[in-house]
Amino acid sequence: MRADNWCDCPRCIRLYEESVNVDMEALDKAYGKVGADEFIEMKEALDRKCCKGYPRDTRREDYEFWIDDTGVFTVSYKTSCSACGFKYEYNESDQAL
Ligand SMILES: [Zn+2]
Repeated sequence: MRADNWCDCPRCIRLYEESVNVDMEALDKAYGKVGADEFIEMKEALDRKCCKGYPRDTRREDYEFWIDDTGVFTVSYKTSCSACGFKYEYNESDQAL
């Protein structure tokens, strides 16, 4: 059995959330300390970032698992993200019979 799948990336989600938090803190600190135009620009930039959200369907998954003729169970899993470069791979075999 082999499957290919495109899905959201946990690292991209984390990076996006961290970026939004940084911008929100900067906006809070800027309140009353910068001019109205600059504050509005910061707020609009944050709103655009929030509307855009994190990258979608950037992570590819490839996986398969089987039991061969000798009774060895094998699982093979690979994933990588085209947006942030996240990669993970897991391979394991076990004598099932
Ligand atoms: Zn990613």
